[in-house]
Amino acid sequence: MQPDFRHGLLGTGHLAYDDTIAALATPPGRGAVSIVRVSGAEALNIGMELAGLRPHPRHAHVCTFRDEAGLPVDRGMVLFFPGPGSSTGEDVVELHGHGGMVVSDWLLNQALRLGARPAEPGEFTLRAFLNDKLDLAQAEAVADLVDSGSRAAARAAARSLCGAFSKRVAELQAALTALRVRLEAWLDFPDEELELDPDGDLEAGFNSVTDSLERLLDEARQGAALRDGLNVVIAGPPNAGKSSLMNRLAGYDAAIVTQIPGTTRDPLREYLSVDGLPVCITDTAGFRPTADPVEAEGVRRAQRAVEHADLVLWMVDVCDDLPAELARARAEVDGDTPLTVIRNKVDLVPEGSGLEEYEGLRVIRLSALTGEGTELLREHLKGITGFGGESPGTFSARSRHLDALLRARAHVRDGFHQLQAHRALELAAEELRAAQGALGELTGDVTSDDLLGEIFASFCIGK
Ligand code: GDP
Repeated sequence: MQPDFRHGLLGTGHLAYDDTIAALATPPGRGAVSIVRVSGAEALNIGMELAGLRPHPRHAHVCTFRDEAGLPVDRGMVLFFPGPGSSTGEDVVELHGHGGMVVSDWLLNQALRLGARPAEPGEFTLRAFLNDKLDLAQAEAVADLVDSGSRAAARAAARSLCGAFSKRVAELQAALTALRVRLEAWLDFPDEELELDPDGDLEAGFNSVTDSLERLLDEARQGAALRDGLNVVIAGPPNAGKSSLMNRLAGYDAAIVTQIPGTTRDPLREYLSVDGLPVCITDTAGFRPTADPVEAEGVRRAQRAVEHADLVLWMVDVCDDLPAELARARAEVDGDTPLTVIRNKVDLVPEGSGLEEYEGLRVIRLSALTGEGTELLREHLKGITGFGGESPGTFSARSRHLDALLRARAHVRDGFHQLQAHRALELAAEELRAAQGALGELTGDVTSDDLLGEIFASFCIGK
């Protein structure tokens, strides 16, 4: 069956389900091995033509790949995975050659010459989804695994890929169905005289579904924090210790530290893991008026980095005047961007490290030089995202998943209200159906064409 939405998917308008696609499955560039993957009805013919042999299913055959003139292109291996048991559900052929821009490109072009067309981003996974090899949450986990920013994030994505998230959604769907059955049985007794739910069965069912939804939401929030990570920008006046903090968090000397103001010019980015939470941290040029055109460009770049931050750490010297520094911070940082003030160099004053609140802002006193108080900052970073540390069941999730779960929860709550306040059984049942619809979006049972296009377009080519 040909689903309608694939036409025009990803905006190309030319995708056809029956055609054969090919792409490089390994990163372009030099490497020991590169793999060209071909999927579709013509995959086997293409593999046979190039390799000069008929591969047995799921066997690796050493072969010489040849071009149209019969001249060798590369010596490698061919593998054939017949559909529907393959990863995409279609016939898949893998051509393993030597890594290198020229040779892998050449091999791919041979597959295209023989009738395959270049795959769109994510199209192999899309075909797997369309052929029921994966549900949508699992397909998204493939991209999350590839893009994971920490080991904990990778593990969470792997759990989603193995179906941990989908299983929880399926359990909730089953609980909602059971509740609907119980509720709909009452539709046969619309009589106002009859006491509704005398044993509290329905109420218990609603409570149990709500509790399960809450738990899943909490876990999905952790998963989303792990997947998205946090984009933190350290900004503030020169010599406050921004580069020192960056180095302290990174655990090595990434940034140059000197007493000379204006040393940092280009924003410097490091990716680190705070107890599993992926954090991208950017050290920026100190904000100050300057006649030096290079430093002025550095300040402009710092301003741009601040605009795109999830959190700005405005760093000042503990001896600086806090109200004045805060006024500067507020002038530089957009009111919608979360802002935390870091008062650095507490090793020079008696008060030591600690947490304060000032005009509604969190202020952290620490020493980038000695490391005292940096633990408070790490906890703060986790707290901002709601990340409580990796737990054995964490799975990866996205903001669209949170949105669907929140809508499902709202429908269940509304359903209970309809039942309790108005004895509106049909409306309550309708709300439960809507909750199931929202959950169906997670696994792709109910999904718009636009959303599918959006999800798969964000994949890399060859995935
Ligand atoms: P930036 O210009 O804000 O990036 O500041 P740097 O990290 O380059 O530091 C400026 C100067 O302050 C250097 O001499 C650092 O050694 C010093 N410094 C940074 N952090 C601390 C700290 O926590 N305590 C003390 N005593 N000195 C620090």
